[in-house]
Amino acid sequence: MPERTIFRGIRLVDPASCHDGLTDVLVEDEGVSAVGDAVVAPAGTEVVDAGGLVMAPGLVDLHAHLREPGFEHKETVETGSRAAAAGGYTAICAMPNTEPVTDNLAVIAEVRNLADKAGLCDVHPAGAITRNLEGSSLTDIGEMAQAGVRLFTDDHRCVQSSRVMRLALEYAKAFDVVIAQHAQDDGLTEGWQMHEGYYSALLGLTGAPAEAEEVIVARDVALARLTGGRLHITHVSAAGTVDLMQQARERGLRVSSDVTPHHLTLCDQDLVHYDTNLRVNPPLRSEEHRDALRKGLVGGTLDAIATDHAPHALEDKEQEFDQAPPGTTGLETALAVILTELVEPGLLDLLRAIELLSSRPARILRLEEQGGPILPGRAANLTVFDPDAEWTVGERPFASMAVNSAFGGRRLKGRVLHTMLRGRFTVRDGEPVW
Ligand SMILES: [Zn+2]
Ligand SMILES: [Zn+2]
Repeated sequence: MPERTIFRGIRLVDPASCHDGLTDVLVEDEGVSAVGDAVVAPAGTEVVDAGGLVMAPGLVDLHAHLREPGFEHKETVETGSRAAAAGGYTAICAMPNTEPVTDNLAVIAEVRNLADKAGLCDVHPAGAITRNLEGSSLTDIGEMAQAGVRLFTDDHRCVQSSRVMRLALEYAKAFDVVIAQHAQDDGLTEGWQMHEGYYSALLGLTGAPAEAEEVIVARDVALARLTGGRLHITHVSAAGTVDLMQQARERGLRVSSDVTPHHLTLCDQDLVHYDTNLRVNPPLRSEEHRDALRKGLVGGTLDAIATDHAPHALEDKEQEFDQAPPGTTGLETALAVILTELVEPGLLDLLRAIELLSSRPARILRLEEQGGPILPGRAANLTVFDPDAEWTVGERPFASMAVNSAFGGRRLKGRVLHTMLRGRFTVRDGEPVW
């Protein structure tokens, strides 16, 4: 007997079909089979009372570190997939700074196999731009692109060589893939611990100026113009980057960008307690930069919200501030942080928020089955959340193996109740299905 679930009277927020309103949604087997008023469900259909709940296309993350292979004491593909499902994600792009580095077909296949075995979220491994992330010789981008890799990046490193970046963008154009840059000039960021400004002087920590990001973005935009390749700037943190992306867009260049929930909501002054969970890369910047990121997001210059989920083992973070590795987890808090900090105060409407968290990243990765529209015949990749439910980050165990959340102890509004991957619950009634 086919599995059927109907969500009655749910607020469907679906940017891809410009829908925001109450409706019924019937899911049969792997797909959506009916959307509309008073949908007649066959006998035996499970009915979900969805009053007050929101349904959106499953969230899509352009930037997550799953740590496997190589760093299984921090996270695995399976636990990272759990964190994704718990946060309402149905597809994520896994960063290649694993050990061995994801710079060839064998490691791509390994990550895909681990993800298939977990079966909780579609994991798209990103390929490295350069061999072993060393910045000098290109990987076989064409071969990996032909095997379905959509995005290439050397994250957490920045491609310093203009020549290498030019070649990467030329390959990106030839194979129609995206080159994602972690924009950070090495010469301006040596030994950095936080954003360079008033608070780095006050706290006695070595600063990295926002201009270290800007100079790379300016160069890469020029190279995108030269080559016609698709350039993506990940985790934008500087006001100047927003201006550069705006200019590039006006000139018709093929550029896109994402920003993290932590850069949109926290800033350098939050570091006064030396909380290592707030040590991230790029660093939290000043209020002016944070406000410029918000403006860039609301105004449509920045394209997507990405988590940069960066799990670490407890002992990694329980060190002196300057010794602790940078990074915060993000998959389980992203939606609630955006709802609480941007949607609730009226900076962003819910339809736009979902577009930034799902539809746009799906389009950047060219994922046909993700990001909506939620219509009959489409795969049922969905998330259902209660926008009014409040919770405290860390009160319940994380699905991730790691606990290094920049939002630990925060009261947030908005809780994922159901996540569905091709019609199968990965989270049901707020509880994991694994
Ligand atoms: Zn990065
Ligand atoms: Zn990263």
